Amino acid sequence: MLTIDNIKMIQPTVVKQIQSLYSRERIVHAYLFEGDKGTGKSQATQFFIQLLLCEQVVNNEPCGQCRQCRLVTSGNHTNVHHIYPDGATIKIEQVRNLMKEMKMVGMEQGHKFYVIHHADKMNIAAANMLLKFLEEPVGKVTAILLTEQYQAILPTILSRCQHFKFAALPREVIIEQLIEQQITKSMASTVSLLTNNLDEAITLSTNEQFVQMRKTVLHLIGTIQQNVQESLLYIQEAWIPVYKEREDFERALDLLLFAYRDIVALKADIEGTVVAFPDKQAEFENIALNSTYERLSKQMQAILKAREQLHRNMNRSLLMEQLMLNLQEGYAFV
Ligand SMILES: [Zn+2]
Repeated sequence: MLTIDNIKMIQPTVVKQIQSLYSRERIVHAYLFEGDKGTGKSQATQFFIQLLLCEQVVNNEPCGQCRQCRLVTSGNHTNVHHIYPDGATIKIEQVRNLMKEMKMVGMEQGHKFYVIHHADKMNIAAANMLLKFLEEPVGKVTAILLTEQYQAILPTILSRCQHFKFAALPREVIIEQLIEQQITKSMASTVSLLTNNLDEAITLSTNEQFVQMRKTVLHLIGTIQQNVQESLLYIQEAWIPVYKEREDFERALDLLLFAYRDIVALKADIEGTVVAFPDKQAEFENIALNSTYERLSKQMQAILKAREQLHRNMNRSLLMEQLMLNLQEGYAFV
């Protein structure tokens, strides 16, 4: 999980916007935090609420230690209410109960907050009820609506909220989060090049066809180093009949391209490069040693050309055969 400390690193713009609102005392009645899963919306919410309730803010940052801060962290602050979808939707009763709570005088003085998680899941009745409340706010109450799909929220609600857009996660953070989900570093490194949506990355990492695709591509690279007959045979067995959908075929070509990009990075010894296939480092270093930049560049161009040909609906067997010949050019004599 992301922590409140790394939210500043991951969403610096959002954090600065929140701090600016706080320092200028411009807190409005409703905010919409929009961003993919895992982009730190909940952590930013906690930061925001703590900042407004903290007893000893320093440099526009909550202390994290005072009673108020601790109550927020533990989820026990009586001024802070959360609602989550009940099954597939957020229902009118949930919003009605929330509004009742908001009107009651709590044990704690000061600002009250309610956080609607997956706000796009509100059904129409619930959304209309919320809208009424947003139109007639009572006292110091602030709503924070969290969503991954703001297009699914009623425009009338959107127009009442100040919109905060959460940036996509940096690749290193995606890798970290995947590793926390028990996905290997190797797999995490590969999928993080294909998507910066954490959900998609998790799905892909655990998709059997994708796991097999990764193996197929890596095996193919081995055969390309050995002999042309073997790689031609292998594509007829493991590639052509398997990747019938253009999307899959293209993705497999992308993985192949990533592999050659890794080899170039290893050859150039580019520091700090997060490669796509860390599990193949030794093998790729060996290929890098036996290749020239010129050849590697030609190989990458050949893959890009195959990708284009795929889009022009060229015969796929032919396309792959040509690619194998192009990739192998020169190796037979090494
Ligand atoms: Zn505090």
